[in-house]
Amino acid sequence: MSDAIENLFHEERRFDPPGKFSAEANAQSGIHEEAARDPLAFWSSEAEKIHWRKPWDRLLDSSDAPVYRWFEGGRLNVTESCLDRHVETHPDRVAFHWEGEPGDSLSLTYSELLAKVCQCAAALKQLGIGKGDTVAIYMGMVPEITIAMLACARIGAAHSVVFGGFSSDSLRERLDDASCKGVITQDGAWRRGKVVPLKENVDLALEGQETVTSVLVLERCKNEVTWSEGRDHWWHDVVPTQDDFLEAEEMDSEDLLFILYTSGSTGKPKGIVHTCGGYLTGVSSTFRNVFDIKDSDLYWCTADCGWVTGHSYIVYGPLANGATSLIYEGTPDFPDQGRWWDLVEKYAVTIFYTAPTAIRTFMKWGEEIPKSKDLSSLRLLGSVGEPINPEAWMWYHEFIGGERCPIVDTWWQTETGSIMITPLPGVTTTKPGSAATPYPGIDAVVVDDEGNEVEPGHGGLLVVRSPWPSMLRGIHGDPERYKEVYWSRFDGLYFPGDGCKLDEEGYLWLLGRVDDVMLVSGHNISTTEVESALVDHHGVAESAVVGRKDDTTGQAIAAFVVLKGGSEGSEELIQELRQHVAAKIGPIAKPASIVFTPDLPKTRSGKIMRRLLRDISEKRQLGDVTTLANSDIVEAIRDGATQSSED
Ligand code: ATP
Ligand code: MG
Repeated sequence: MSDAIENLFHEERRFDPPGKFSAEANAQSGIHEEAARDPLAFWSSEAEKIHWRKPWDRLLDSSDAPVYRWFEGGRLNVTESCLDRHVETHPDRVAFHWEGEPGDSLSLTYSELLAKVCQCAAALKQLGIGKGDTVAIYMGMVPEITIAMLACARIGAAHSVVFGGFSSDSLRERLDDASCKGVITQDGAWRRGKVVPLKENVDLALEGQETVTSVLVLERCKNEVTWSEGRDHWWHDVVPTQDDFLEAEEMDSEDLLFILYTSGSTGKPKGIVHTCGGYLTGVSSTFRNVFDIKDSDLYWCTADCGWVTGHSYIVYGPLANGATSLIYEGTPDFPDQGRWWDLVEKYAVTIFYTAPTAIRTFMKWGEEIPKSKDLSSLRLLGSVGEPINPEAWMWYHEFIGGERCPIVDTWWQTETGSIMITPLPGVTTTKPGSAATPYPGIDAVVVDDEGNEVEPGHGGLLVVRSPWPSMLRGIHGDPERYKEVYWSRFDGLYFPGDGCKLDEEGYLWLLGRVDDVMLVSGHNISTTEVESALVDHHGVAESAVVGRKDDTTGQAIAAFVVLKGGSEGSEELIQELRQHVAAKIGPIAKPASIVFTPDLPKTRSGKIMRRLLRDISEKRQLGDVTTLANSDIVEAIRDGATQSSED
């Protein structure tokens, strides 16, 4: 791919921040310019907003690049910024309200949360876990997952959270890779009224496994479990009996905080390494400025702690800012498709952060559902995980935001630790589909194949030219892969693997993964743009397009389309959609084939798995589907694909 990614999409709509919002916003205009004048001074002042036991001697050490070290010599424990300092100033503020899938609920104040974290930390120590060890956390979205993460941080053990939807094989792979010493899990987790047997999966994963010596088990669903005496311990036996205060372990700024495996959309998961000082600086700064958090806010991020969004914007970012959050255990469709909006209403949520896949799902279910709920408490909306198509953005704006809430489309990765490209809600005029501009202090640009910056109006590759505090410190156990994956494309530039377009006004438009870009008759066409054109049609809720081999055009565009409200597709509609894409972005982008499907194959984190669709389109053997959330759909799509229309 090169600077020749076609500049197909023309977006004219724009939204200014409401005046009152701007006047009161945490981030005021001028913040980008000021940070650009002296990025290191910006990061230094952001780092001063977290609690250090000993200030750093050196802000940035680049001598071992591309492994950068931030705040060298600084000493801290991240839990003191997230808990202790808030307990001093406002002990009774709620850190989070939690709602269980069956409808049970709980609220924890900052002082209660600190006590629970200390008790869990003391229990881990009693089980022989300490500084330098790694603990896997394999749980659902119960309050204890947050407590467990912070308890590890309290004693200087790294956590490796493994999403509770992963199989025992995936868990085993991650336990081995990080040589975990402990596992924290549950008997079972609720999922749409059924029990996911987490403890059983842990037992399977530990067969013949050599590094894990203890397993801490929370009782949640009361399902039957088998027990390994000496290794397994009930949470309720060993945690609540501990002292409710434990002095935090003093850590170096560059000590390991956690390992997190990427979601695996593009292959073998990578154990991304994050350290204490820089990571906390990044998430604390971005949370305050991007989500504009105030004492009066009730913030809800719908992610799972198994993904980086949960780490950065459910746990560390909000707590570092003393925020009050909502955490919800279940899925959006249980017991019915209005559950999330019921929660917004019940808790009077003011800031809401979710993923495009969820928004498109709500579009498919129809706006009548959110329309029947009171969402008037909302004042700010966010999106993360995939490019948000302009139509989905507009739907979010209209039916969830009531046309009054700024939307922050935040681009970032597991590797970047915190948000990198985003509007600032009181500052930035937003354009649906664009993540706007780099966060203050972030030096991201679009370059061509040779690494030269593209002119406005052109597409190319997104790169980051200067280090930033919350950047990954490597891939666990594989320094060569770290250099190869992120630093070998261009000398000295961080290459995230995403295509991007720079518009005439300097806005960035993320175009999806470089690997997904299609080459049709010599034109580079991004999947995102064709998908957005399809979603732009009034009947379409979601779509995925891939390039499949074609003798005449090199690649031909194969589209998979989910219709709104369960409508049926037809030959007429196929022709209409092809015309719609042609009219919207040009005849070159017309899909050669269109398949209607009730759903799309997605990863566990909800991202479209184009790799599989490519296999289906080229009638190849299917690739690895273990990280697929809805594997049944693959068969359904394949059946449909054989009857697709082409010309
Ligand atoms: P893997 O690296 O294993 O394939 P993954 O990339 O899906 O998994 P994450 O780190 O969770 O794992 O996702 C980061 C990627 O998600 C980005 O590189 C980008 O492709 C996409 N992404 C995230 N947010 C946005 C956004 N706001 N706009 C466009 N794309 C986004
Ligand atoms: Mg990735």
